[in-house]
This record gives sequence, structure tokens and C-alpha cells, in this order.
Amino acid sequence: MNGMETFEALAGNPHIKDYFSRAFAGEKIPHALLLTGEAGSGKTMVARAFAARLQCEHPQGLSACGMCRSCKQMASGNHPDVITVEHEKPRSFGVEDIRGGLVNDMTIRPYASRYKVYLLDLGDLTITPEAQNAMLKTLEEPPSYGVLVIMTRNAEALLDTIRSRCVQLGMQPVPDETVRAMLAGKITTGADEDVIVSLARGNVGRALKLAASEDVAEVIAETLAALKNIRRMRADEMQAFTAGLKEKRDAVPEAFSIARFWYRDCLCLKADENAPIVLEKERRAIAAEAAERPAAELAGVFDAIGEAEARLAGNVTFEVAMEVLLMAMRGRGERTLWQK
Ligand SMILES: [Zn+2]
Repeated sequence: MNGMETFEALAGNPHIKDYFSRAFAGEKIPHALLLTGEAGSGKTMVARAFAARLQCEHPQGLSACGMCRSCKQMASGNHPDVITVEHEKPRSFGVEDIRGGLVNDMTIRPYASRYKVYLLDLGDLTITPEAQNAMLKTLEEPPSYGVLVIMTRNAEALLDTIRSRCVQLGMQPVPDETVRAMLAGKITTGADEDVIVSLARGNVGRALKLAASEDVAEVIAETLAALKNIRRMRADEMQAFTAGLKEKRDAVPEAFSIARFWYRDCLCLKADENAPIVLEKERRAIAAEAAERPAAELAGVFDAIGEAEARLAGNVTFEVAMEVLLMAMRGRGERTLWQK
């Protein structure tokens, strides 16, 4: 059963498994489901595992059998009664998408299954209020075979009238040990597992993405090297670090996260030299910095990281935002080094 999503394979999220166990045991199948959670948190996996179980000809408990015609169709990604709602415009679902791909289509009985399941994955797209209103009646009075699963990162962006008609289930972060277990053998870049686990923040999808990214591995190594040596780096070295980071733009948030771990770890060791820290492998360097710098200064650097992120989100150039941040990291009241 290659390629078929299952509840067994879902990391963490016991409340999700409990909900569906009870729903299937009591044959109380929700006709409208709203799955919320950040990118990589497992919404698509849950939606597809639910669809597979719902359509399976020989299910057991929460499990689809993996053998029947329906399960084979799920595994191949071509199930005639599990339909992905498509959108015409690149960034948004409009009223025509919803009418054609969902509302009108649902009036046609399933092809060969008991149910007809529609997957509406909003991802980072928008959906117009008109499009939402167009599906209200479908949500209110679905045919007995009709099931809609909406996936979104932001339930607040949906109208109350939509939310209130759906069973809402939120994906939760999973424990670090679970992320670690899911990562086994999957870090192909040589990046440090502890750092990847910390950067993933309980999100298995994000962890797997980070684990496979060469850019992320380089950013981790270069950022840790910069943090360790920042107070000895020359202007040209800081410029080279900045230029390297700029080239790997998608991994820049990871660099900021690592810098946050570093200064938070500094503050932890200042309070208690035996405290557990995130960047355990850098304990010596972090302890040395913690011993040398006052807590207020370290807290100031921590704040400067947030300010740099805000500047980057605004109109400030990458080089200027980074210079200000690197100066804060160096301390000693230096203001500028290379942008005079
Ligand atoms: Zn089956």
C-alpha cells in the first residue's frame, strides 16, 4: 500500500485519532470537516487517511485494508470518488471553482463508492466570501454520501457561517522525541539532528523538509560559526557571511531561529550554569559568552533579532538589516563597520 496515507503513520496528535476512532465506531461520519494547522503539520495526511478509511471496502477500526480496489485507487492517487477541488486563479478560490468543483459536482452520486469525498486544500491561498457563501447550502444539507474536508492554516480567514457548520480539528505540535523518531535516517545533509529537531518545533513535515535541504545544512553550520566567532570577525568576514545567507534566502528564518537559541541559551546559562540548553553541542562557547556579557546586553541581542526580522519584512535592505544585527551581536557599542 505504497503511497496511501494512514492514521497509523500520523505522528502524535492522539486527539485526532481518538476523534476518528469514535466517529467510525459510532458510524457518525462528519459531512463537513475543517482541519487547521500550519504547513507540514499533517492536515493532508489526515484528510487522505480519513478518505481512504471512509471508502475502504474492508476497514478495521481506524485502518483501511490497503488491499481492496478503493485502497489501491487511493494509493495510486486516482480515486474517482475522492476529489480534489481545483482553482483557476493562481492565488485564490473563486465562486466558479466552488460551484463547478464542489457544489454542482456533489449533486452527482458517487461513481462506485459509498461516499464522495471532496478535499479543499486552502494552503496559503485565499477564498473569496462569495465562494464561501456558495458552499453554505452544501454544508447545511449535504447529500448522505457527500463529505467535504477543508484544510487551512488560518481558520480565522473563513466566515463564521462556514466554521460553525464544520467539525473543527486542529493539528498539534508533536513531542521532540517523536520528531526525532520520524527523522531517523532521513537527514541526508549531515546537519545536526538536535538542531533540526529544535528548528522543527514539533512539526514533522517541517522537520523532513529541513532534513533534506542542503541550504539549511549550510546555514546551520555558517550561523553557528558566526555566532561562535562574531566578536573576532573582520568586516569582510561578516560581509561574506551576510552574502552567503542572502543567497540562501529560504533558509534565513532558520538562521534567525538559531541565533535566538544561542542567546536564549546564553541567558539560561547565566541563570544556572547546569541548565539544559538547546545548542548542547555548543555549550562551551555559549558558557564563555554568558560569562563575559551582562544579562541585559544578551537580552538586548535577543530583541535585536526580532527587530532585524521586522526590518527585513519592511523595506530595509538585507545588508543593512544584517549589519545592524551583527553589530548588536558583537556588542562593545560599535555602530557600523562596512556601511559608512
Ligand atoms: Zn480497503
